[in-house]
Amino acid sequence: MTSSLANIRIVLVGTTHPGNIGATARAMKVMGLERLVLVSPERYPSGEATAMASSADDVLARAVVVDDFMDAIAGCGLVLGTTARMRSLPQPVLDPRTAAERMVAEVGSHEIALVFGREKSGLNNEEVRHCNWLINIPTSEHYSSLNLAQAVQILCYELRLAALGGSPGETTPPDWEPQPPERLEFYFQRLEEALLEIRFLNPAQPKRLMQRLRRLYLRARPDENELNILNGIVSAMLETARERSTKED
Ligand code: SAH
Repeated sequence: MTSSLANIRIVLVGTTHPGNIGATARAMKVMGLERLVLVSPERYPSGEATAMASSADDVLARAVVVDDFMDAIAGCGLVLGTTARMRSLPQPVLDPRTAAERMVAEVGSHEIALVFGREKSGLNNEEVRHCNWLINIPTSEHYSSLNLAQAVQILCYELRLAALGGSPGETTPPDWEPQPPERLEFYFQRLEEALLEIRFLNPAQPKRLMQRLRRLYLRARPDENELNILNGIVSAMLETARERSTKED
């Protein structure tokens, strides 16, 4: 499923710092992307790039270096450019999530290029002109320019999430199993009994206490062990309260 991400090429245009090229290779590999294209990098190859790539040095070794931007996007049916600033020309702008969903939807049909600009000046107008859409990562209004490799990381992460079919959400622990309503009902009945016994619940003025407590437990969704503990607490409450009332008698 996620192997299709390997068909998306990441294009870095005119990169100044070789460290950013290495960090980009790493950002890609951890998310399952493999194809890196470098358009006229200022200093490459470089030990700094290799050091920042860490175990993604294979992505770096396979990176294709070209002189011309058109060669980098050649044959692509979808070209998306990233930008830190809104431009004067009304080019449609997508957020990273929407863009990633679009790329994943089209990845089986044609080649896709995701393009990143120069550290200082971004993409020029000529390059932007070839992009089907631009992507802007939402940022603080006071500072909108991310480090190049960090921008790559955010886009590659969104691509991975989209390829997995959306956010993985919360994963439940392997030993967690929800309890059936009848077991919870048994607990609620005994809890109510105990709360009456210890006089926390006033039968003349119940004030929706049980309703609120039910809602609390239903939200928490206790598993078997937890429900056993809760039932144990209720038993102890009932026992203690009954012992006391026998003594009082
Ligand atoms: N001053 C430049 C900043 C370039 S930052 C400019 O005006 O564009 C280098 C590259 O990182 C950008 O070209 C873009 O590819 C990416 N990038 C940085 N911040 C980004 C953001 N908020 N949204 C999308 N891409 C961003």
